[in-house]
Amino acid sequence: MAISFESDMEYGGRVLMPQESQEDTYVENKLRPRSLNEYLGQEKIKENLSVFIDAARLRSEPLDHVLLYGPPGLGKTTLAGVIANEMGVNIRVTSGPAIEKAGDLATLLSKLEENDILFIDEIHRLNRSVEEILYPAMEDYVLDIITGKGMGASSIRIPLQHFTLIGATTRAGQLTSPLRDRFGVMLRLELYTDTELMQIIKRSAAILAIPIDDGGALEIARRSRGTPRIANRLLRRVRDFAQVRAAGIITKAAADDALKALEIDALGLDSVDRRMLSSIITGFGGGPVGLETLAAMIGEEAVTLEDVYEPYLMQIGFLNRTPRGRCATAAAYKHLGLTMPGQQTLD
Ligand code: ADP
Repeated sequence: MAISFESDMEYGGRVLMPQESQEDTYVENKLRPRSLNEYLGQEKIKENLSVFIDAARLRSEPLDHVLLYGPPGLGKTTLAGVIANEMGVNIRVTSGPAIEKAGDLATLLSKLEENDILFIDEIHRLNRSVEEILYPAMEDYVLDIITGKGMGASSIRIPLQHFTLIGATTRAGQLTSPLRDRFGVMLRLELYTDTELMQIIKRSAAILAIPIDDGGALEIARRSRGTPRIANRLLRRVRDFAQVRAAGIITKAAADDALKALEIDALGLDSVDRRMLSSIITGFGGGPVGLETLAAMIGEEAVTLEDVYEPYLMQIGFLNRTPRGRCATAAAYKHLGLTMPGQQTLD
């Protein structure tokens, strides 16, 4: 399998950000699982995918187009690579914002070989004229090229090889319906459980030759917000502390010390999570408060709150999304050491 990257995405370097940093890119390529067996967790998705892959291979056909969606860092890019590997085909990797013109996408598509995979990350960010090239390509494996303008315009159809498009997005709701309808398979990635993250951490530690015990792995897993990218990043940060302060082995105590020093609390909340919850509580009586108002109040982008912070806060039962806005739950009050109006403190 050949993987070619059309672009590299870069994001800021906060320890708990699920987006990829430059340092991650290097290590992540070493840690990326290559087969369905190595890809830990997401059992339901793997079960379905292995049936689709076996069926496509039996028929010697390309896999149906696949849309992967879910928060950043959960393994969408990794899964696309795994699918290519299991199918025994090439994959070309690009992203929505990297494809500026319709012609760029046409060139990419025409270079694909039979059954190859084209992976488009952040597919919701494709611009409209580029997206329109995809419709006939996905449906009939052709490029419809319009030449000339007005009355003199004519269109040429160029056949393409049969290929599979794998799109990834953090927001399936933002895809236009013509694009969404052309995916035969839609798979939603879920946040990982602590046990799954522990397995991922132990696997990564073995590859990077970092000594760690179960207690250490669990402590890191608990604070990784259900996200493998964060788990791998915390593992590397904790290793630094363990080397300097704890004879090199990551135990529960060593992990706990390191994560405290990094100001990551017992549930993996960072200062933005805490600001968000305490603003809802102190500024708006616990909610409901609209997303935009909340974002302006704490100085973050609304999309970042929605894609990056909210999934985990909802998963651990600290935040509810209601039609009238966001509300903090009793558990959030308790975690922040605050008393919910009308309730006695529990301890
Ligand atoms: P996304 O594309 O969803 O942002 P990635 O596929 O880049 O996320 O995954 C981030 C990192 O997390 C990868 O480098 C990989 O090492 C690790 N990872 C993701 N999913 C898994 C998994 N299921 N098992 C093991 N490691 C994983």
